[in-house]
Amino acid sequence: MDDLNAKQVVITGGGSGIGADMALAFAGAGAEVTITGRRAAPLEAMAARHANLHAAVVDVTDEAAMAALFERLGEVDIVIANAGAAESAPLVRTGLDQWQRMLDVNLTGAFLTLREGLRHLADGGRLIAVASTAGLKGYAYVAPYCAAKHGVVGLVRALAQETVGRDITVNALCPGFTDTPLLEASVETIVARTGQSAERARAHFQSTNPGGRLIQPAEVTATALWLCGPHSGAINGQAISISGGET
Ligand code: NAP
Repeated sequence: MDDLNAKQVVITGGGSGIGADMALAFAGAGAEVTITGRRAAPLEAMAARHANLHAAVVDVTDEAAMAALFERLGEVDIVIANAGAAESAPLVRTGLDQWQRMLDVNLTGAFLTLREGLRHLADGGRLIAVASTAGLKGYAYVAPYCAAKHGVVGLVRALAQETVGRDITVNALCPGFTDTPLLEASVETIVARTGQSAERARAHFQSTNPGGRLIQPAEVTATALWLCGPHSGAINGQAISISGGET
């Protein structure tokens, strides 16, 4: 892909955090970017920031709504399955409802996004899933999230094999703990459950990174832009860790 001018891009969960940062960067590079989420307000606020950003209220777990979105858009060039959520609890206190919520949004949502994206993908297209380092290793108290993100990595690896011979690539991005509203919600959960200060809770997440810092959304965006660049056609079926070397 030589440049992003007029490329059709879909980014799920594009109203905040990593998805919003990617949306602004892709729009700034000339792409027409459709951003989705369940809440209209953040999507509309984003759309007001750039003429190339288009808001669509669609729940990523709603099969019919996802199919209708892609039908309406027609051919697309880049699809980024980014929507996700992380709830935490010890496994023995994890209900089936929480397990199901985490699989629904993080894994089934990625499946529906990549399936619909593939059905409408132009030659030279790119499919990207925002997984997590939780797709590559375990973390305590987020077993359903980890299981779902490991599933996303498996989905990407399988789809890359299945589409060999087509001029497209399918890859997963695996950020470590990243400075977004999702991370802040996790900090608030720790504060509420343990009485720790927010600083101490945030320091816990930073300490997982060898550099002692959170990943910035722009670092994930830069990797997505590179995957959509002209010389990245050989990068396929990969789970790319963006974590400062966390193991
Ligand atoms: P975020 O700001 O909370 O973004 C998540 C987005 O997903 C929100 O815009 C949310 O919008 C959307 N979303 C949630 N459920 C949805 C649903 N059912 N249908 C459609 N959209 C939905 O958090 P983020 O950190 O940028 O997360 C983006 C991705 O990065 C997620 O897949 C997350 O697992 C992954 N990730 C995050 C970190 C981290 O530490 N922050 C690390 C590794 C990977 P609505 O609420 O309006 O639906």
